[in-house]
Amino acid sequence: MSKELRGIPAARGLARGVSRQWKDAAFVIPDAKPVDLTAEKQHLVEARHEAESQLYALSVQVSQQVGDAKAALLEAQAMFLNDTVLVSKAETEIDRGMNAEQAWHQACEYFAAQLESLPDETLRARSADVRDVGRRVIEILLGVQAELALDNQTILLARDLAPSQTAALDTSKVMAFCTAEGGSTSHTAILANALGIPAVVGVGDELLEIADGTFLLIDGTAGLLVSNPTLELLADFDQRILAESEQRERETEFATQPAVTTDGHRVEIVANVGSIENARKALEYGAEGIGLLRTEFLFLNRNKPPDEQTQFAAYRTILDLMETRPVVARTLDVGGDKEVPYYDFGVDANPFLGYRAIRISLDRPADFKSQLRALLRAGAGHDLRIMFPMIATLAEARQAKKLFEEAQAELQANNVDMAKEVQVGIMVEIPAVALLAEQFAPEVDFFSIGTNDLTQYTFAAERGNKHVSHLNDPCHPAILRQIERVVQAAHEQGKWVGVCGEMAGDSQAIPLLLGLGIDELSMSPAQIPSAKQMIRNWSFANAQDLAHRALDLDGAEAVRKTVQQFISTI
Ligand code: PEP
Ligand code: MG
Repeated sequence: MSKELRGIPAARGLARGVSRQWKDAAFVIPDAKPVDLTAEKQHLVEARHEAESQLYALSVQVSQQVGDAKAALLEAQAMFLNDTVLVSKAETEIDRGMNAEQAWHQACEYFAAQLESLPDETLRARSADVRDVGRRVIEILLGVQAELALDNQTILLARDLAPSQTAALDTSKVMAFCTAEGGSTSHTAILANALGIPAVVGVGDELLEIADGTFLLIDGTAGLLVSNPTLELLADFDQRILAESEQRERETEFATQPAVTTDGHRVEIVANVGSIENARKALEYGAEGIGLLRTEFLFLNRNKPPDEQTQFAAYRTILDLMETRPVVARTLDVGGDKEVPYYDFGVDANPFLGYRAIRISLDRPADFKSQLRALLRAGAGHDLRIMFPMIATLAEARQAKKLFEEAQAELQANNVDMAKEVQVGIMVEIPAVALLAEQFAPEVDFFSIGTNDLTQYTFAAERGNKHVSHLNDPCHPAILRQIERVVQAAHEQGKWVGVCGEMAGDSQAIPLLLGLGIDELSMSPAQIPSAKQMIRNWSFANAQDLAHRALDLDGAEAVRKTVQQFISTI
């Protein structure tokens, strides 16, 4: 019987295929005693080497698909394989008569438990990596590491997918995926967009009850999943799939053309970039520049911060790729869910409300200025722009700008070649800034609205928490009114405004942002061609009318319904 399930739209598009539930390989650790202890140890050495090469191979793939930061997570896992405490513990257990699987399992559990007992939250979190890597080695030892043998046209279903699992999906076979958990700004969702396949997340546990081999239709744009569709529905869906693929072809053809409405209003369409590979993708998809360079990709999964020269080299590669296109580099945004071992954040009961981003940078002026100098040097001859994340007060904005000017003066004093006429802006992701936008406007060259955080702070609903994900919709009038306020304050004072949260690439949000007067939309590279095409279909005047009506509606659902009507009447 045909059945519908609804979840959160995570990556747009339509797909049809056959369901497959994601399951880790099942195994039982054998209890046989080893006959030859030396051979047993050798067995373990070989399995560790195999696991290491698997992780490195996967990290190369992940780096190409989603960026170096995620790849570094896998490299960090690979390093555990040679940890002397772990390895010698396992060998001791073999000497005491355990087989390789038992010994490795015991050693990993021991090591993970030790990590869990530490006061440092970052180190505690590494216990999951130890267990993960432990499992991989045992699967290799037992020969049960069954690759999920996927048929063509698979719709993958899972409780949740880790970034490494998502990035390793064979997109020639996986047409779409759905998860029971997760929110629309979770890593999995951001990744699905980067891969260019439809995805629905946060469907709930009912998803896990769907039997393998069930015929499914997925509408990633609407967040809808239909099992065993009627023939009528299937025919309608097939027509939509065909129309969509023709549309994608058209969009790609015009990807490098600007996004200008039917009445001549232009919006700049730029990319969110978190790695050098992403920057290449951005150009392929027709980005007019970079609206958000997440510089933390260089800082995560290291034991110490990257030095100035390492930073310079990475920034330079990206700026050279972008030639004279604008590149908005955001200074370090760690803390919250992005921990680094070399900064002691202490214990934060609410990490998203705690020691994060600019709060850390202002406490570490030497590191902050080192990043600014690296950016300024890399920006010589380019259109470099710099922005500060998580600004809450004018005092912070002024202090950050003062340190920026000091970095400039230091380079100047040494006659170092650097970027000229650098625009300096702030992210608007805390409601306090949106409320006082007219006071901030004289202090900056531009605003970039981080709707992921602005939404979580407005609704007091953590962005990664599935229980509150229904509250985190940026199309809510409470967010739209803040955006309206920021645009008005900025434009009155001759400043420009961008949006760089996931909202900027959401097809239902784009007409609203256009109508509210946003000057620049920064999104995942793969979303660029269709965003440009949509804007070309609309008139600015109609979008303004839509946005003004949306401001007075009573919730996100009503707004999305109104937008849907607007889109379907064009
Ligand atoms: C945002 O908060 O909207 C944003 C773009 O920053 P990040 O997702 O990196 O926190
Ligand atoms: Mg943010």
